[in-house]
Order: sequence, then C-alpha cells, then structure tokens
Amino acid sequence: MQTLTDPFARAISYLRVSVTDRCDFRCSYCMSEHMTFLPKAELLTLEELDRLCSRFIALGMTKLRVTGGEPLVRKGILTFFEAMSRHLASGALRELTLTTNGSQLSKFAAPLAALGVRRVNVSLDTLDADKFARITRWGRLPQVLEGIAAARAAGLRVKINAVALKGFNEDELTSLTDWCAREGHDLTFIEVMPMGDDMGEALRLDQYWPLKDLRARLAQRFTLTELDQRTGGPARYVRLNETGQTIGFITPLTHNFCESCNRVRLTCTGQLYMCLGQEDMADLRAPLRSSPDDAALEAAIHAAIARKPKGHDFDYSRRVSDGKLSGQITRHMSHTGG
Ligand code: SAM
Repeated sequence: MQTLTDPFARAISYLRVSVTDRCDFRCSYCMSEHMTFLPKAELLTLEELDRLCSRFIALGMTKLRVTGGEPLVRKGILTFFEAMSRHLASGALRELTLTTNGSQLSKFAAPLAALGVRRVNVSLDTLDADKFARITRWGRLPQVLEGIAAARAAGLRVKINAVALKGFNEDELTSLTDWCAREGHDLTFIEVMPMGDDMGEALRLDQYWPLKDLRARLAQRFTLTELDQRTGGPARYVRLNETGQTIGFITPLTHNFCESCNRVRLTCTGQLYMCLGQEDMADLRAPLRSSPDDAALEAAIHAAIARKPKGHDFDYSRRVSDGKLSGQITRHMSHTGG
C-alpha cells in the first residue's frame, strides 16, 4: 500500500473534503445572511469528487471526512458516500465520516450507517431553541435534535461540536456537558475564529471566549485528567473524572500539533489546502479535468504534498485589537469546513 509523505516525514492519511459551499443555516460566525454561492460549473461533480478522492485513497489516505457548507444538502450526496463505501469494503479506507449541522440527519442517518459511516460530528452550540434560531438564523433546534436521535437510532456515534461564544453559550457550559453525558455523546468545544470582513462585523470582541478560560471553568466543577489522545489535528482532550466523559478542545489556529499533522483539505472546487493556517493551495481541478487519465492529477497531488509547510504559528488571540477580532483569517476555512 502506498503512503503520501511530506518533506517533514509526516504521513498524510486524512483528507477533509468539502462537497458544497451551500448551507441551509446561516450561522452568524460562519456566513453572512446573504451569501453568493459558487456557480455550478465551478463545483466538482459527484463523479469528479469520486475520482479525486479515490486517487487520494489509492495514494494512502485512510480517513475521509466529508464536510461543507452543509454536506447533506448536496444533491445526490448518498451517491458519493456509496462510491466511497467501496473503499471501506476493500479495506483501503479505514474511516468514512462527516461533519454536519444535523438538519438532514433524520433522512440520512440510516442510509449513511448502511454505507459504513460509524461516527458523525454534529455542530450544535446551544440547547436553547430561541438562541439556536438566533445564532443559526435559519435553523430550528427540534429538527437537529431529531436528526441526532436518528443518528443514534441508526447506531452512529455522535460527537457534538460547540463553538464557544462568550455571552452566548457561556451559561450553557454545564448544561451542554451534562446533556452529552446523559445522551452518551462526545463533546468538543471550538474556539471561535474570525472569518473575513463581514464575519468580523458579526463577531463582536466580547464573544471571543478563549478555551483556556472555558477549561478553567470546567475545572471548578470537575476533576480534569489530560489525555494523551492525538488525532494529528488541533484538538486536545481531557477526561472528566466524575462522569468519565471525554471533552475535546479545538483551538484551530494555535500552533498545537503541527509536527504530527496528518491532514489536507480539499474544497468543493478542487483546491487543496495543505495547512489550515496558511493560504497556499494547489488547484487539482485543472489536472483532473485535463485528462481522463490520472497521471497529471497524481503528479499534482504529489507536488502539493511536497509543499506542505512545517506548520503555522498563528495565534490569532494575539490579534484582538480595537474592540474587534481583527485579521483576515484564512477565508478558505469557510470553504473547507473548518
Ligand atoms: N455544515 C457543517 C456543520 O455545521 O458542521 C459542516 C461545515 S461547518 C463550516 C464546520 C464546523 O466549523 C462547524 O462545527 C462550525 O461550527 C465551525 N465553524 C464555522 N465557523 C466558525 C468560526 N468562525 N469559528 C470556529 N468554528 C467555526
């Protein structure tokens, strides 16, 4: 079996693929309410996504996370999962998973489970229906809770991803943690990132809640044991001794584990980002479309991986100024599913 190895001897085995830029929610920290989405011709077709991801898997990717936009609003998305499931069956792919807002899970959980998906990350910042409607603008909490219940009923393991927003869900730290313990969901908190100009407007400085503060707050109520659980990504984990729960903390732009980074991100237009904290990307759509043969595509993938940087040292918490989170932080993150 092949492996993709970068210049720093890191095996690149995890591909996050965004299958659409569209979403049925308009979370205020992620999208403006009036979005202009990409014309269809720009997007990779499902067949192209299959070809591209299959080439990555042939080169050694063993984990594939499907994201968006909202992946489950992409028309025909089950066709893509079905295509990827053949790589699970062959043993080339060890894990096929997705990150979703949960709105479509009632419909999709069972078919996804049947295609070999075992775990799903659901983004959910609050258990308060009014607050949920406010932060997502277009979302409705009961629909998401039904989706999560459907996922569990289908046998999927659920991880809740909650963006930590001071003054918004600060008071729900305990209730979210308790709810996840009761329901048997894993829980990870994400530090909010300022994304682009308009998000800078939407995101007020007083919403920035550093995860170290949140962690200290948890430590007032629970005994925290640091876990040596590494995923190659920007997450750290602790165990709450009292409940046995594992809680994750994602500080996306902090220089955490670059030395063990195992991932790259593909946008729905075929751009490959080698590092979450840097703007360099490789266009894979042109070689993909230039020939039905995969030679040019494969060469472009190798060339891109050879450019994967050693790491980023971008702690944007240092860039808080003028009463607003500042900085044009990598707009590509909104196209690569964070
Ligand atoms: N629609 C899917 C979902 O809701 O999970 C997948 C895409 S969404 C962009 C992926 C994750 O990025 C979600 O957990 C979301 O909360 C997170 N996210 C979006 N904007 C963010 C921001 N400004 N800071 C931190 N996390 C953000």
